[in-house]
Amino acid sequence: MMLAIYHLYPDLLNLYGDRGNIIAFRRRCEWRGIPVQVREINLGERIDFSDADFLFFGGGSDREQDLMAEDLADRKDNLRKAFEDGLVTLAICGGYQLLGRYYRTLSGQVIPGLNLLDFYTLAGTTRLIGNVAVEIPLPGRMVRVSGFENHSGQTFLGEIKPFGRVLSGHGNNGSDATEGVRYKNVFCSYMHGPLLPKNPALTDYFIQLALERRGRDGFLAPLDNGFEEAANRVMLSRLKVL
Ligand code: GLN
Repeated sequence: MMLAIYHLYPDLLNLYGDRGNIIAFRRRCEWRGIPVQVREINLGERIDFSDADFLFFGGGSDREQDLMAEDLADRKDNLRKAFEDGLVTLAICGGYQLLGRYYRTLSGQVIPGLNLLDFYTLAGTTRLIGNVAVEIPLPGRMVRVSGFENHSGQTFLGEIKPFGRVLSGHGNNGSDATEGVRYKNVFCSYMHGPLLPKNPALTDYFIQLALERRGRDGFLAPLDNGFEEAANRVMLSRLKVL
């Protein structure tokens, strides 16, 4: 079966190599003989998410977030349906912020979010920048992932679970050790990096969820992750969490 990757606003939301998440998802499917099709969705393009298997939003600056907030609002019902239906979604940083209640910039401008997930974001005066290590619960095990964050927004969660726990770095707001959010199969994170190429266990988990959602066997043939794991160990030990 073919997996459909939908990439929202690829020209506007692509900070720090976020597109690498699409490449990693795609390649790890193809290496196992799972065909993949990538569809880029730009401002104004009407689409239905019911055919999507993996939806990706990258990060963007305040200006870009403002540009797309209205366009995104038109997709709200469609997205809500897809999220409830278990669509595997990854939203990074600026894309993440837009799924919550609102994002208040430093100048006081309130950019409304889709209000699909229970959190809000306030711009702070210091940017939260640097490498980050996060512990993430996957079924039956914990994985330690590494990424790179650069945001002024500080996100505060309501009735929603975080994606993981910060071991080193700032995460959602620099004060409560939460990182990102998870709702059903929607994963949001501040981790650029890009996240998936650096952390193959996470990529494979997303592929597995996407296959199982279509009633397929989620077993994935193991791949050689030697380079990725070595790089991850270097970063985790540099951050003193290994
Ligand atoms: N504008 C947001 C912030 O600085 C998002 C930045 C990003 O996507 N890296 O908080």
